[in-house]
This record gives sequence, C-alpha cells and structure tokens, in this order.
Amino acid sequence: MLKAMNVQEERRRRQYLDALGITRWEPRHASVTSTPEIVNAEPDISVAPPGISKSVVSARPDDSRAWTELESEVCVCTKCSLHTTRTQTVFGVGHRQAKWMFIGEAPGADEDRQGEPFVGRAGQLLNAILFAMGLKREEVYIANVLKCRPPGNRDPKPEEVAQCEPYLLRQIELIKPRLIVALGRHAAHSLLKTEVPLGKLRGQKLSYHGTPLFVTYHPAYLLRNPADKRKVWDDLCRAKTAMEKYDADVAPADLRMEKVENS
Ligand code: URA
Repeated sequence: MLKAMNVQEERRRRQYLDALGITRWEPRHASVTSTPEIVNAEPDISVAPPGISKSVVSARPDDSRAWTELESEVCVCTKCSLHTTRTQTVFGVGHRQAKWMFIGEAPGADEDRQGEPFVGRAGQLLNAILFAMGLKREEVYIANVLKCRPPGNRDPKPEEVAQCEPYLLRQIELIKPRLIVALGRHAAHSLLKTEVPLGKLRGQKLSYHGTPLFVTYHPAYLLRNPADKRKVWDDLCRAKTAMEKYDADVAPADLRMEKVENS
C-alpha cells in the first residue's frame, strides 16, 4: 500500500518536473518512451498530496500568542503610505515550524484581494516548484518583504522596506527556518542590502540575520522567461543539498542553525 503511494507520488513529482520544463535524469536502462517531454503547461496544483512530512518541519511548539500579537499588529499597520491603497495586509502563509522559508517581494493584485501571498499565476508556479522539490505549500512558510501591495505593482520603496522589515524579522524569529530562499531581485536586494545583480548572488550560501539564505529568480520572471527554469532548479537543488547536510549534521530537530557568514 505504502509502496503504491510512493510510486504514485513519484509519478506526480515527475509530472511536475515535466511541467516545469526540467529535464529529469533517468537510469540508463530506462526505456526511450520514458524520456521526459519538455512542456510549459500550467501544472494542476490540486493534485498535491495531503499530509505534512515530519522531516520538513521542526519539532517545536509554536508560540501562538506571539503569532496572534504579530498578526494583529500587521493587520492594522499604518507605518507607511501603502495602508491607504491596500485592500488588506498579506501576512504570510504556511507552517509555523517550517524548515524552509520562501520570501518574495510584495503582494500583487491577487494577493491583495485574497490576503495570502503567492496566489496568482506566479504562486501557482511556485507551488509547482515546491512540489518538484518534494515540498508542499503547507510544509513551508511563504511571506513577502512587504505586507502591503504597492499600487500598480511598482517596486517597493526603501522606506517601505525599512518600516515593514521588522515584521518579517519577527516572523523569522518565531519560525526559526533552517533556510531562506529569496525569490527575485527585489527580495534579494531588500534582504541583503545590496545592489549586486541577482546573477552574481545566485549559487552562494548567503546569510540573513544568521539564517542561511539562497537567492533565485522570481516565479513571475520565470513565467516571462521559461528558459531560466533550469537555473532555478539548479539553485534549489543547491539549497536542498544544504538542507540535507544540515539535517545530517544536526540531529535534534529544534536546534537553531549556526550562523553562517555572507560570502
Ligand atoms: N509576487 C511576490 O513577490 N509576492 C507575492 O505574494 C505575489 C507575487
């Protein structure tokens, strides 16, 4: 029964990789008919299997009072002018003990309407990427640098980032992710306080306030530049290797990640 489920899950994972346009490596003896087809179809996220894998979340109780306080604070925030144009704040979504945290730039129109990060087309692609990595949306934590939508999807202003960043830092403090993935140039630049091009930041294990950070392209960029999906896959494989190394090195699941220096 379990084996049948694993086979089914693996089949779905392969479908996702194919949908992402990522070439799978097959064993030499695999039949020619199993060569992956490279397509750019929108994957059907509804097939993601239910249940949370214990290996991707930490075994710590969450501080629900602190979460409620933070969420209530964000919800009524008026620290920058974005509160005048937002429909609602977009706090973040996912598992509060997630080992993986994905951080985007700011909510778009769909997110502003629904109050949840990455729910539009870019979000669907992010879900597909997560699935291809063997992760489910509910097993990771997804947030943005900004909690409110910049009107017309303009770039976040430095003063908006400065006002909003403490909320993100508090989320990280509560989640204690083992690893952060910054999605896109704006998120990477805002978090790392750098103007170094994204292409140069990719492939390095960086650090955000002591938590290891990897940088990759934003899913919205990938929708416009599908040829770069391979690069994202490479970045995430590197991040996954770092996570596996950490899991292998540190047995107790609730230990904080040691500090790593920016390279
Ligand atoms: N782009 C982002 O950076 N964040 C979202 O939540 C949606 C799109």
